[in-house]
Amino acid sequence: MRMSHLFFETLRDFPADAEVTSHKFLVRAGYIRKLTNGIYNYLPLMWRVLKKVENIVREEMDRAGAQEILMPFLQPKELWEESGRWDVYGKELMRLKDRHGKDMCLGPTHEEIVTAIAREGVRSYKQLPLNLYQIQSKFRDEIRPRFGLLRGREFIMKDAYSFDRNEEDMQKSYKIMADAYTRIFDRCGLETKPVQSDSGAIGGNISHEYMVITQTDSGENDVFYCDDCDYAANSNHAVSVLPEAKTTGDWDKAEKVSTPNARTIKELAEMLKIEETVICKCLVYIADKEPVLALIRGDKTVEETKLMNALQAKEIRTASDAEIEELMVNHGFDARPGFIGPKGFDDVKIVADNSVKELKNFVMAVNENDVHFVGANFGIDVELPKIVTDIRLVEAGEMCPQCHKPLKVTRGIEVGNIFQLGTKYSKAMNATFTDENGNEVPFVMGCYGIGISRTAAAAVERHHDEYGIKWPIAIAPYHVIVVPVNVQDELQMKIAEEIYNKLLENGIEVLIDDRDDRAGVKFKDADLIGIPLRITAGKTVQEGLVEFKVRETGEVVKITPDEAVSKTIETVKAALKV
Ligand code: ATP
Ligand code: MG
Repeated sequence: MRMSHLFFETLRDFPADAEVTSHKFLVRAGYIRKLTNGIYNYLPLMWRVLKKVENIVREEMDRAGAQEILMPFLQPKELWEESGRWDVYGKELMRLKDRHGKDMCLGPTHEEIVTAIAREGVRSYKQLPLNLYQIQSKFRDEIRPRFGLLRGREFIMKDAYSFDRNEEDMQKSYKIMADAYTRIFDRCGLETKPVQSDSGAIGGNISHEYMVITQTDSGENDVFYCDDCDYAANSNHAVSVLPEAKTTGDWDKAEKVSTPNARTIKELAEMLKIEETVICKCLVYIADKEPVLALIRGDKTVEETKLMNALQAKEIRTASDAEIEELMVNHGFDARPGFIGPKGFDDVKIVADNSVKELKNFVMAVNENDVHFVGANFGIDVELPKIVTDIRLVEAGEMCPQCHKPLKVTRGIEVGNIFQLGTKYSKAMNATFTDENGNEVPFVMGCYGIGISRTAAAAVERHHDEYGIKWPIAIAPYHVIVVPVNVQDELQMKIAEEIYNKLLENGIEVLIDDRDDRAGVKFKDADLIGIPLRITAGKTVQEGLVEFKVRETGEVVKITPDEAVSKTIETVKAALKV
């Protein structure tokens, strides 16, 4: 490709609305242009990158025995009613009506459609296992689209769905996908960590997310991991063993004590000169529009996804002060929000974290202003709630659940995930096949997603410097850029053209910067758009030499044009693992 014809424009500045590196560079280097919030045009350079990621994914899915299909982007409400998700899926589901008033939605994911395909097309166990996948645009009306391609409203996803005759075979399909994912991200030049995660709205039991580790805010997930064993989990799923702590208070009798204005756990601990670990903290949440109470040891934090799962709720948020006051008034209490306690809410769902079980002679609020109850015990002063489970947010330094070494935390970008769905959709949608014994049984399913556009953006998050992108060769829009420093110089142009043509003949994807621009401009653009290799034909062509530069390492060597051609071919082949 000749740069003089390439449809791209680099900008002097970063876009004003960009917060993270990949968004900044992809816009500035001319890869993407925003159409509207969370929706982007993929320009020629970007589309080449996306197709590369897609092709790696496609090759590995095919190798793993999956079959590619393409399902419609527009979906009818009926199937979503069959699965029960029409009412459950929140506002992320873009709903619309056709001209006949029929309810439709834009596909955010395709479990319903693919389950209907299997229901119709698979009759016998002999047709199993089956794994169908597609690569397609998805639409989710994300509440906070941001970070460019990392969290868009319209984005490209590979989604695969496996159908098996039993749990055991489904585990095998899951393992095959896990291995395929390792190969995919490895081939993309992206290091990922598979981590255990919450299965969320998709349902099912076991799931893993593939995280690109990044210490910046572009990683929206906290990942807890252990250096001593293979434990790694998303914060919504991570568990830990707590280090020893004082969980029995020093009071010898149970009584109310005055705690004026002690609204927070910290203020309360300071006022009573106690450790936060002997306080039973009581928090109010609104789960599916109903108030609920959550109890946890004073020094710990509630993890909302865990709480939501404990309640089997679809939505959860913290209650406002007004809502807490209303809850108290409705139960005959007249106290400020900081003084709410677990007693006297018999008709309200209460979930206690496991950490609360250990508490003895502890401190709690009792729905009276400026007062706390000390020396409290479960079974005597207040009942232990019926639901006691893990709703605690893990913190770094707590101990690994597998090997008891201290856990570490890092940020991660989820580029893909794999779920063991089980029979959630097949049962709900009555998708069955005839097994070996002639019985009609539901498919045991798995589903497997990869964010194609997010993966490309995550690669930029991991591979860049202050001057621009440093694409891994396997997903770069072009492998190499040939730069004649001065297009008016006949020899420089001749050498550059020769190199360009030889590389083309050898199947190398090559750009030639034939623009009549200053060398500085060309070098800046080459660095910004992040082409992995650069061959510069400058003054040294007089001595029969060109400059060969590796963007990733900055390494430069002066070699002959032929050597530059063979070095490029070697480097590209090695990176593509062909
Ligand atoms: P997240 O927790 O980041 O919202 P998710 O759990 O909703 O992701 P899935 O529904 O499992 O994600 O989708 C599969 C993959 O699609 C994700 O691993 C991610 O790479 C990608 N993806 C999901 N939402 C978006 C989005 N809004 N923009 C770009 N890619 C996305
Ligand atoms: Mg999501």
